[in-house]
Amino acid sequence: MQKNKEEGESKIVRGESSETKKKSKEKKKEQELETSENQEEEKIEERVGENQEKVEEAKIEEKKEFKKIEKQKKISEEESWVPKTKLGNLVVEKKLTLEDIFKFGYKIKESEIVDSFIPDLEEEVIYIGGSPGKGGGIQRRAARRTVRIHKSGRRINLSAMAVVGNKNGYLGIGFGRALTNKEAIKKAMRNARINLFPVRRGCGSAECKCGEEHSIPFVTVGKTGSVLIKLMPTPKGVGLCAPNEIKKIFRLAGIRDIRIRSRGQTGTRLNFVYAVENALKNLNKMKL
Ligand SMILES: [Zn+2]
Repeated sequence: MQKNKEEGESKIVRGESSETKKKSKEKKKEQELETSENQEEEKIEERVGENQEKVEEAKIEEKKEFKKIEKQKKISEEESWVPKTKLGNLVVEKKLTLEDIFKFGYKIKESEIVDSFIPDLEEEVIYIGGSPGKGGGIQRRAARRTVRIHKSGRRINLSAMAVVGNKNGYLGIGFGRALTNKEAIKKAMRNARINLFPVRRGCGSAECKCGEEHSIPFVTVGKTGSVLIKLMPTPKGVGLCAPNEIKKIFRLAGIRDIRIRSRGQTGTRLNFVYAVENALKNLNKMKL
């Protein structure tokens, strides 16, 4: 009896096994179907991906065309500059040079005047803004954000500072204020052009005496607010011995070797930059 039972059990097991086999076969078929479906889906996805690539390429081309049109517009705007001041008219008629403007003490009131004399003027933004983060220090940014409290809430103003120069003796520093970041920088660039001034260069180092214009001719001092700054000439090869933001100014002025000494709240970037400008302008006051 026991044997029979076992056989029966075994039969049952076999039956089950056959059933499981059938099930497994069905599963396999289903899996195959699924895999085939997946493959088809993948193919469709690939096609869609190709289409997307094509669409993206078309978009990029559109953007390029748009940029081209904008550039052409800009150029046409620059070409169609109509001077509003007397000095502007004189410049357009080519009766003056840039040196004459500073020699006779004209005041530049249009940024296009500078552009017409120096077309390859280089621009740079000085990071005057930023927010103090966790753990000390300040994360510097281009635009300074100031907030004033009003009846209806907070009014935000943004300001920026820019330097322009031709790396050959002409430098301008400008400050701009606006409601948006981009416009503040744009205004700063424009003001920097208007505030253009010549930088007197030379070799005032007693160790060098090469006579080339790689440094400044003598020691100068400048001051703005609490910041007091002293610029000293150095021999060739020393480089710019100054903070990174101040280096930008010297680089655009065409000074390659200089040493600075400062005093006061130099963390106030605005005053620090103005003090350097003041010192460089004082170079022109001296009569040699
Ligand atoms: Zn020298």
